[in-house]
Amino acid sequence: MQQLAYTQNSSQTLRYRKLHRKMKTGFWLVLFLGLGMIALIFTTYYLTKQVKAAENKINTTLNQYDELLQEHNTLLQEYKEIQEQQETLNQKFQLEKETLLQEKEELLKEVENLKKQSLQGGKKGKKIAYLTFDDGPSANTKKILDTLQAEDVKATFFVIGQGLKNEDKQALIKRITEEGHQLGNHTYTHNYSYIYSSKDAFLKELNQLEEEIKKLTGTKMTMVRFPGGSNNKLYKKYNKSGENVMVQIKEELKQKGYVYVDWNVDSMDAKTKELKSKEAITKAVVSQAVKQDQAVILMHDAQAKTTTAEALPEIIRQLKEKGYEFDILTPNSTQVQF
Ligand SMILES: [Zn+2]
Repeated sequence: MQQLAYTQNSSQTLRYRKLHRKMKTGFWLVLFLGLGMIALIFTTYYLTKQVKAAENKINTTLNQYDELLQEHNTLLQEYKEIQEQQETLNQKFQLEKETLLQEKEELLKEVENLKKQSLQGGKKGKKIAYLTFDDGPSANTKKILDTLQAEDVKATFFVIGQGLKNEDKQALIKRITEEGHQLGNHTYTHNYSYIYSSKDAFLKELNQLEEEIKKLTGTKMTMVRFPGGSNNKLYKKYNKSGENVMVQIKEELKQKGYVYVDWNVDSMDAKTKELKSKEAITKAVVSQAVKQDQAVILMHDAQAKTTTAEALPEIIRQLKEKGYEFDILTPNSTQVQF
């Protein structure tokens, strides 16, 4: 009985211990689960908060992006409008430019026509020959002047400064003006490489001769003839900086009241190195002059050109026969310019 009681007692203790262990385990389990739950709740709460913050950030960024997009679109629209305006302006400009160019073209033609008219009809019905002698005075000048005097014909001498210190040449210059002929400026040295090296070089030569002639005659020359003609491109060879020296010189001449004259009849007396016969010179002059009512005839009064002076009486005779009168070149006479 005692044994049974003891056994019963010990099995009760065992059960109690088991139960106690289970409860302990249960308690820890519950505690652990509880803590786990709390941690989970906190984590969830924290994460939700984080997600919300991130969402907010994303929304703000999206809004900003939208605004920027809108701004971009507005700018794009403005840009397109400006581009369209520019295109319209460009078209307008192009159109206006073309119109102006056309007008310019027409005006130039008109000027050309007027020039021709003035050249042909300036002195209507009158045929005028302008004899011009370049490069003098020379050993031939006296002969030329004697012929002109005998024929009672006036001419224009485009002189240079070479040898002007010589009294004989000075006397010839004086005689030219005293007998009613015209003196024109052909530069002091006629040296292409210098006079066409720059505008200043040309003007220096022009003024230098001007001064010398003024001292001798007391009058200022107004007519100019470019050595080599006004359409020569010699400056391209002699001007080192690539300037258009001819345009500059012409502008300067205009401002200073000079008038330059080329020719529409070439006696051909300087075309070749060998001397042309007086017959050839006469033929060249008369055959070209008859095509012009206002004939500006290029001849040379250089020492070597003896046949030009020899041809002169016959040239004058034939031109008179064809109804030509003779006159000197002035700023108001016909202006033959290349
Ligand atoms: Zn010359």
